[in-house]
Amino acid sequence: MEDLIIIGAGASGLFFSINTPSHIKKTILEKSDKIGSKVLMSWGERCNLSNTNISIDNYFWSNTQALHSLFNTFSYPEILDFCEANHIQTTTEPNWRILLKSGKSKELVDFLIKQAHTNNTQILTNHEVLSVSKAGEIFTIHTSNGEFQTKKLVLATGGKSYPQAGATDIGRQIASAFGHTISPIHPGLCGLETKENLSSLTGNSCSATINLYHNNKLIHQEKGPLLFTHRGVSGPTIFNTTVALGNYLNQKKSNNEYSQFTLGITIDKNTTIKKIADFFHLSTVSENILHIHDIRPRTEAKVTVWGIPLNELKPNFESKKIPGLYILGELLDITGKTGGFNLQRCRTSARHCAQNIT
Ligand SMILES: Cc1cc2nc3c(=O)[nH]c(=O)nc-3n(C[C@H](O)[C@H](O)[C@H](O)COP(=O)(O)OP(=O)(O)OC[C@H]3O[C@@H](n4cnc5c(N)ncnc54)[C@H](O)[C@@H]3O)c2cc1C
Repeated sequence: MEDLIIIGAGASGLFFSINTPSHIKKTILEKSDKIGSKVLMSWGERCNLSNTNISIDNYFWSNTQALHSLFNTFSYPEILDFCEANHIQTTTEPNWRILLKSGKSKELVDFLIKQAHTNNTQILTNHEVLSVSKAGEIFTIHTSNGEFQTKKLVLATGGKSYPQAGATDIGRQIASAFGHTISPIHPGLCGLETKENLSSLTGNSCSATINLYHNNKLIHQEKGPLLFTHRGVSGPTIFNTTVALGNYLNQKKSNNEYSQFTLGITIDKNTTIKKIADFFHLSTVSENILHIHDIRPRTEAKVTVWGIPLNELKPNFESKKIPGLYILGELLDITGKTGGFNLQRCRTSARHCAQNIT
């Protein structure tokens, strides 16, 4: 019998294991032979681990109260202190993103692995969890490499997006089997395909205001860089718009009809790219309407929008339904905008849970 099992050696699983009291022996079961795959990839391997502009306005969620208290306790100053104390140098960009100064996310992952081992954790790679059952107080975890038992189980398997980095849906499946609410999920932080053909503008970018409309009702606004692709639009404003879109669909309990949405694009009057100015008739038209055809696939989405509702968890992220079951990171229904908010969410939930595990 293991003291505590964590499924998934990603950002949340690693941050959790290094913050849990050292007398608790921890075992991480990881499907792949690689640890921290998505952290390694983050921000072009430069690791955008947080943001000095952390506020609930940069997150989409189902429970505001929980989020307020969460980020009051653990926010970017805490992660900066953690890095400084461990001689990991960071740099803050003018757009508030906090990155590793070395420009190498491997520096952080290597440190987390070393620290996890020091803090009484064994990491078993090539152990894919297939299912979990519970009898009395004991969870039995069935893996591709044998069975494990524990009274405390942490789900840190992340979202379904970016399957090429090992992502699976197992966390939601396990939570669902234990009675948690599972709603449709959406790709987030990715591009949008438009019905209008914008291919003549491919590769060009400009500054713009993006309004997201549902049946002509404004539901979200973003301002900033807009990139044109051969299928539609992309860039930070569109990335954030996709998270707002997925969140809205779930709040409204609506299905994946992305084509019900339109984008109102107001190009910055000072744009110097003639092609863009001409295409959008900049001198005469202020807002141009683009019709969404589809969202780009999960293989391009940096996050999964929506997860296990926070109101089904206690403040320490333990399931209200299943004692001894904890859920962290991207499996939760908190999704951040682009800018380091998603790794910060993993750190915040993992640290808070680790310090309050009973
Ligand atoms: C390309 C890319 C770039 C990104 N850049 C940034 C960025 O710059 N800043 C930012 O804040 N966020 C970024 N993100 C998002 C961020 O990386 C994720 O939100 C975060 O890593 C989620 O952490 P997690 O621990 O919840 O899940 P993950 O990091 O996905 O970890 C889950 C782990 O569980 C394992 N697993 C899955 N199924 C099983 C199973 N059946 N059995 C055992 N193990 C399993 C997986 O292999 C994985 O190791 C990026 C994402 C991608 C894909």
